[in-house]
Amino acid sequence: MTRYLIPGGAGFIGSNFIRLLLTGYPDTTVVAYDKLTYAGRRENLQDVARRFGDRFRLMEGDICDAERVTAAFARTQPEYVVNFAAETHVDRSIADPRPFVHTDVLGTFTLLQAALEHGVARFHQIGTDEVYGHIQGDAHSREDDPLAPRSPYSASKAGGDLLVQAYHHTYGLPITISRGANCVGPNQYPEKAVPLFATNALLDLPLPLYGDGRQKRDYQFVLDHCAGVKLILERGRAGETYNIGTGTELTNLEMAHILLDELGKPRSLIRHIEDRQGHDRRYGLDISRMLQLGWSPAFSCEESVRRTVRWYADNRWWWEPIRGGDEFAEYYSQKYRRVLA
Ligand code: NAD
Repeated sequence: MTRYLIPGGAGFIGSNFIRLLLTGYPDTTVVAYDKLTYAGRRENLQDVARRFGDRFRLMEGDICDAERVTAAFARTQPEYVVNFAAETHVDRSIADPRPFVHTDVLGTFTLLQAALEHGVARFHQIGTDEVYGHIQGDAHSREDDPLAPRSPYSASKAGGDLLVQAYHHTYGLPITISRGANCVGPNQYPEKAVPLFATNALLDLPLPLYGDGRQKRDYQFVLDHCAGVKLILERGRAGETYNIGTGTELTNLEMAHILLDELGKPRSLIRHIEDRQGHDRRYGLDISRMLQLGWSPAFSCEESVRRTVRWYADNRWWWEPIRGGDEFAEYYSQKYRRVLA
């Protein structure tokens, strides 16, 4: 059996990755280690717990808590650590950067230290394309480009990446990093653009679109991202970083049009609101290193958005309790009530 420890496994991408591991690789056991913040949800893993109870366990804990992290390593004896745990929403990082610096920098450090003390076959860090910052013209970011993060979220993630690289260069820890483009798919908390727009459209509410909506993003389907991470664990070179995305882009306005068309809802639901502070206009990834590894995305940006929207239409059981809950109501009201009034 190959043993995995997955910090952040109850979140959007982490839970999809765990499902991929347990369904596709019968020789794996997985412990998800998660603080269960508003974005980390037991229901993301309830089917997994039901189907694979003997090979899967969820352990509640904070990656900044060194004692509990050490206990998780001791109990799990992981060969692979794949770190999805992070504070992830740019807008929340603008309103309150502290938890981002805490979890994404200090938390990553705490995991690295435990991995070093315990000894692992691989420590894989889930990174983001946002660390490259806003990309000019039609250039594409390569893995060795300088990091130029511009939001508290992306700066914290860049700090995490740099620590991961430092543990490789200084202590020889076998690490890899993936930097993913915007992921969409099942189980994404409905605060980020695609799940927010999908659920708003299903509720016939306006879609709050930042500025002119011409910001460009590479929307990739979460299972493509997860398959890429698995391939890096199998074939990636220790110390290396890999960009994962489709290598193509949509504007946010195009994304909103596709989403509304898929649901048969009118484009008049789109409401342009004041742009996000310091909003990056464009991210674009050069994915040739992943292509050389033998990976390629199965879904285009457009199909990724369409599949995601269909999932939200078919899985109201998942998002209606979130949207009806206090956490979401308070967040939504603070952020959008006035601008959408
Ligand atoms: P998410 O917000 O859905 O999940 C994050 C998970 O981390 C949650 O389960 C949460 O409970 C957990 N967590 C947060 N703080 C923690 C702490 N201190 N200790 C333990 N667990 C904690 O995020 P996601 O979209 O699944 O993102 C996962 C990773 O992928 C992040 O590192 C993110 O930066 C990166 N990423 C995301 C995207 C995207 O589009 N969603 C794109 C590229 C990279």
